[in-house]
Amino acid sequence: RKAEEEARQDEPAVTRDGHQVAVVANIGGVEDARRAMATGAEGVGLLRSEFVFMGRATAPTEEEQAAVYADCARALRPGQPLVIRTLDVGGDKPLAYLPIPKEENPFLGVRGVRVGLEQPEVLRTQLRAILAAADEGAALHVMFPMIATIDDWRRTKAIVDEERAAHAPDAHVSVGIMMEVPSVAVMAKQFAAEDGCDFFSVGTNDLTSYTLAMDRGHPKLAAQVDPCNPAILTLIGGAAEALHARGKWLGVCGSVASDPQAVPILVGLGVDELSCSIPAIPAVKAMVRAYDLATCRDLAARAVSCSTPQEVRALVPMD
Ligand code: PEP
Ligand code: MG
Repeated sequence: RKAEEEARQDEPAVTRDGHQVAVVANIGGVEDARRAMATGAEGVGLLRSEFVFMGRATAPTEEEQAAVYADCARALRPGQPLVIRTLDVGGDKPLAYLPIPKEENPFLGVRGVRVGLEQPEVLRTQLRAILAAADEGAALHVMFPMIATIDDWRRTKAIVDEERAAHAPDAHVSVGIMMEVPSVAVMAKQFAAEDGCDFFSVGTNDLTSYTLAMDRGHPKLAAQVDPCNPAILTLIGGAAEALHARGKWLGVCGSVASDPQAVPILVGLGVDELSCSIPAIPAVKAMVRAYDLATCRDLAARAVSCSTPQEVRALVPMD
């Protein structure tokens, strides 16, 4: 079956009845971008920009960052999306040159975009580098991790607008929010109504941890941190509906997008884009092709009525 999937990896992922789902890749750098292209990815749904910052003694300059982002953009085919997530570090992932005080509760502390809002020069430098890579062929998108409140978004967006106006007024860059704190999914309607917010992508890894209040790395709890928990699927389905009503798209870039068993359910919930680990792409595309949209919607409706993740998984038998 693997050979069959790989033979069709470069074809689009279209359900039996003609509904297309974008299948893109999660990457950590330009080598990954090239591998993703060779594995059937239709673009990049999550560039974890941390890799540019880690393993060095000083912060990367604007020029260094811009070179990496432009290389990634040029590795894609013209017009394909490249979603760059801004620096996502915090008390749990310290950087020598970025002073973030040690915290009692780093997962509830200054992490993700909160670092950039506290140290705006870091965020501004990165934004200028991203704007400089616009119009390198790929359709550039910038996305912010750990947005929790409308105020987070408005402060972030104000910084984007300032940098754009000052340095790249004509750059084509879409701006989006990572949906990985439950408040954003619960308030998807209000977030979708915000000006200048073009898209959302669900980070199911953190969303699941924060919804269940369980650390995904905890040795005793990790097995229960299942993104197929009906609570998570309910959040995703509700968000998709609210965003579509405003003409905004929803991706999933957490690891559940790479889980073939979850694919028909996510499609049925209204997810427009699946951003997967590179090796998962052929199987995820094959799973989309195996269903029609009505069946996916029926599965999704049943999934959100299930009581446990085990019941959800039993809806999609895998041989
Ligand atoms: C997520 O939280 O689902 C996600 C994609 O981000 P990361 O795994 O890098 O925290
Ligand atoms: Mg995350």
